[in-house]
Amino acid sequence: MQTTDRALELTGYQRQDFSVCLGCKICASVCTVNDLSFNSNPQDILQRLFLGREIAAEEPLVRFCTGCYRCTGACPWNIRIPEVVRALRETLSTESPFEKAFKASLQIWGRVYEPYVLMRAVPFLLKGGYIKHMSRWMEYMGFHLPHKVKRT
Ligand code: SF4
Ligand code: SF4
Repeated sequence: MQTTDRALELTGYQRQDFSVCLGCKICASVCTVNDLSFNSNPQDILQRLFLGREIAAEEPLVRFCTGCYRCTGACPWNIRIPEVVRALRETLSTESPFEKAFKASLQIWGRVYEPYVLMRAVPFLLKGGYIKHMSRWMEYMGFHLPHKVKRT
């Protein structure tokens, strides 16, 4: 089975569903990946799926889509492009450790269980040297470590 066929199966879309795409490229104009100058074009991905053409794992959208749904909100047809991208990543075996952990958590508990996701992500965070940024992330997420209060 072709990558595009398998990806379509995972999204629940039919190939012909994308025939409604107007080619207006509003999705590309609001795409977060383009804020980082990667020149991504979600409409191009949909067109290739529609035509049954292969999509490479190196495609900027496949690599960097944040799943923010800005494109879906702006699209006249509300096409769920991030779900298409997630299906492509699964088909191309390029899912991030976080995506794998989210999915496993959903399969086990039927919900995203944060401690489990974090536990699964720790080896990746350690390997990538990201652990040193943990205190900043926690601050950003609203967690604060206890600190001494100065008494006068
Ligand atoms: S969900 Fe992905 S494709 Fe859509 S706007 Fe966000 S980054 Fe771009
Ligand atoms: S915004 Fe929707 S209709 Fe317009 S090009 Fe993108 S996917 Fe197609």
